[in-house]
Amino acid sequence: MLCIGREARVPDVLPTGVACEAVRLFVESNKEVCYMGCCSLEELPEGYEWMDLRESFHVLPEAEYRMAGKASELLYFDRQHRYCGLCGAPMEWSSAISKRCTQCGDEIWPKLNTAIIVLIHRGEEALLVKAKNFRRDYYGLVAGFVETGESLEECVVREVMEETGLCINNIRYFGSQPWPYPMGLMIGFHADYAGGELELRDGELRTAEFFTRDNIPAIPGKMSMARMLIDDWLQSR
Ligand SMILES: [Zn+2]
Repeated sequence: MLCIGREARVPDVLPTGVACEAVRLFVESNKEVCYMGCCSLEELPEGYEWMDLRESFHVLPEAEYRMAGKASELLYFDRQHRYCGLCGAPMEWSSAISKRCTQCGDEIWPKLNTAIIVLIHRGEEALLVKAKNFRRDYYGLVAGFVETGESLEECVVREVMEETGLCINNIRYFGSQPWPYPMGLMIGFHADYAGGELELRDGELRTAEFFTRDNIPAIPGKMSMARMLIDDWLQSR
């Protein structure tokens, strides 16, 4: 059983060669201690409850939520790389964050899926969109995965054009965020509208509209980069 708590740093408690079957976060009833583990239901200590990683954001201090996210990513990496992609032999942990093939020695590290998300300004307005894959009924921002051979800025321009038909310029870096669902890195930008008519093109969006600050619809919760960008815009009046 793998546990991560306040006293344990992530690398110290990683399993070596553990085949993880269940990855859950559980939180003590008083909400003060968290552990990330792979354990069966029978091993759940008294006074703890199962908790989804996303839900834990609303319960745990940020540092512990981040630690749980890292643990979740490493456990996912472990499960996804039980055998070598080159020769098929079993892999084993070679460090706290890497695995090595027991036969050919090839070493691998977790690979993050890098995604951009962008808030487009048009004067006092911002473009908010509803994507078909949103978990709830709210407006968010244009987002998409970075492709091979592409810079972050090129990705922002391409995603906006593909999804909305709009041209943008003046792309400004805002911030980044680990997104362990399951292995992501979200990178946020502001950008300015530079031309074009709104046209939902590649079928990923349900709707897209420009809103003013005093007329915004339902938006995502505080944990997301989308919300951080929208809040940044709202506060920049
Ligand atoms: Zn190998």
